[in-house]
Amino acid sequence: MNFTPAVGDLPLTDKQQSLLTLVHELGRTKFAPRAPQVDETATFPFANYEDLRANRLLALCVPEANGGLGADYATYMMMAAEIGRFCGATALTYNMHICSTMWTGVLADGIAMTDEQRAEHARRREIHFRRVVDEGAIYAQPFSEGSAAAAGRAPFGTTARKVDGGWLVNGRKIFASLSGAANYYGVLCTEDKGDEKPDARDTLYLAVPASSEGFAISGDWNPLGMRGTVSRNLTFKDVFVSDDEQLMPRGVYFKGAQTWPAMFFTLSPTYLGLATAAYDFTVSYLRGEVAGEPPIKRRMYPTKQIAVAQMRIQLEAMKSLFARAIQEAGPNPSKDVRMRLYAAHYSVMEGANDIARLAIRTCGGQGMMKHLPLERIYRDSRCGSLMLPWTAELVLDRMGRETLYESGERDDA
Ligand SMILES: Cc1cc2nc3c(=O)[nH]c(=O)nc-3n(C[C@H](O)[C@H](O)[C@H](O)COP(=O)(O)OP(=O)(O)OC[C@H]3O[C@@H](n4cnc5c(N)ncnc54)[C@H](O)[C@@H]3O)c2cc1C
Repeated sequence: MNFTPAVGDLPLTDKQQSLLTLVHELGRTKFAPRAPQVDETATFPFANYEDLRANRLLALCVPEANGGLGADYATYMMMAAEIGRFCGATALTYNMHICSTMWTGVLADGIAMTDEQRAEHARRREIHFRRVVDEGAIYAQPFSEGSAAAAGRAPFGTTARKVDGGWLVNGRKIFASLSGAANYYGVLCTEDKGDEKPDARDTLYLAVPASSEGFAISGDWNPLGMRGTVSRNLTFKDVFVSDDEQLMPRGVYFKGAQTWPAMFFTLSPTYLGLATAAYDFTVSYLRGEVAGEPPIKRRMYPTKQIAVAQMRIQLEAMKSLFARAIQEAGPNPSKDVRMRLYAAHYSVMEGANDIARLAIRTCGGQGMMKHLPLERIYRDSRCGSLMLPWTAELVLDRMGRETLYESGERDDA
């Protein structure tokens, strides 16, 4: 490889090397030049998705037996970081799409199911994998509702009631990245059993086709960063979806979230990519090597050298934790592995914006102009630690609690 991937110079398999080379070239030659316009107009990067589709990368995590590229969790995380280096919005939305194939694929394989559930899941996921492989379908992942549900602290307010042949979905989602671009919306909702006792254990994961009657997209989208994600509101009014749109059998999502905590870590590689981009830009800028800029060198000032050293130290720490976390991710992690996972997530999400902030301070006023990527990276990187269920605040909350309390311990007087 003639570049160091955003994930770092890890030992890579041949498959990882060829996938990373492919996506690095796409990012460098296609996604990066398109990123300013995607950001300025706050529009979805459709052209990037055409490139991903043409290179079979929409099916990255679909098993080979189902016609996909069969990438595992760690490989996906490396790929997402590489995309994030060139376009944050493409990487973040790619995460939403890929997760709908990875959760139903490799993650579901590690979640306990009855034989009957396993057989039902195998049949249904084949339908959904076929859409991605044969039709190039895009899936969104709208969970957030503006309640405690996306933080995992309450049942989802969006409900699904069993009817003949399928489900009737009602409710509202906010921040649905890929709204208007996705062909299917992988919605988390609570089964309405008619007893008015919503229970998170009854969470259902359903694919709602974009063409469904009663489904609508609304609201403005004019945010600080990650503008190309187009994360608008969705409403579901008596939307009928057939039984085969169940992306996981009843009750399995809840178990999955407990079994596979690393499923929520998948938001972080986008931000590792952004941090890498901020660092790369700073080095080129101080060396006077940014294309189209006057070749003014700023590298001789000791304060700049110190700032670059600080950025590199933070980046190395972040990458080491990230690399370890993706290698050990799996079902039922030990407490140490879980703590490291939280630490990795927090370090990347908070660190990316920290590195972007240092980059702007170090490059100076001319470096923050809109025609250069740094100010966009700064804004995009600010969004990472706001993302549920593992916002920076909630990760601190979890780590502190889970360090001081073993499972089931209480302080009852
Ligand atoms: C660019 C972008 C794209 C997104 N795309 C998607 C998407 O595709 N799908 C999707 O489902 N969501 C998406 N989200 C939404 C995201 O995951 C969060 O749901 C959203 O940012 C929460 O905003 P809020 O104002 O409702 O937060 P609130 O729920 O009001 O929380 C505000 C803050 O309070 C803290 N907090 C929340 N609950 C608790 C608690 N119980 N205890 C302690 N502290 C708490 C958290 O730190 C949180 O950041 C996206 C967000 C962004 C910024």
